[in-house]
Amino acid sequence: MSQATPLIPPLSKEQQQQVIAQTRHYIDQAVALYGIKDKPLDIVFNLRGRTSGMYRVSHQLGHYTREIRYNPYIFSKYYDDNFNTTVPHEVAHYISDIIYGLRNIKPHGNEWKQIMLDFNADATVTTDYDLSGIPQKKLSSFTYQCSCREHQLSSIRHNKINRKRFKYYCNFCKKPLQLKTGQSALS
Ligand SMILES: [Zn+2]
Ligand SMILES: [Zn+2]
Repeated sequence: MSQATPLIPPLSKEQQQQVIAQTRHYIDQAVALYGIKDKPLDIVFNLRGRTSGMYRVSHQLGHYTREIRYNPYIFSKYYDDNFNTTVPHEVAHYISDIIYGLRNIKPHGNEWKQIMLDFNADATVTTDYDLSGIPQKKLSSFTYQCSCREHQLSSIRHNKINRKRFKYYCNFCKKPLQLKTGQSALS
């Protein structure tokens, strides 16, 4: 049995208000700096999985919806870092969308980088967070290991092992497959 890592509590309502205020702060800064007009934007805290933030535009029947989504768990675990980096990062996507249109530029290209520079923010794109304790999206496959290698098992097989005490054996080393530790198996 692998030990379950305690789950990180998500951002509190008060922290969410701070994050929204910080997001607005960067938007106001960009509006003043570039002399643009902002567009309606939803700021929500419903992102799951391995990503801290996401900017998304969808359009339906000629109506555009723009939203910045934050991951309330990763944000909570690494609050200061996300406050200072993820917030300007997503706002810079939103601002570059308003100025250039997303389809006309690369996601983290020069236009986006220049905005990050003007924000005085860190434009490093990759993060290396330890995500233990962060609830993950429902996984469609699970990583198991034997003595010699890793195996990807479907959630159907995983559930058979979990609930019905099935065993699967490696074709190479003939050892039973064990769920790899450190993997969250929330479904
Ligand atoms: Zn990005
Ligand atoms: Zn093996």
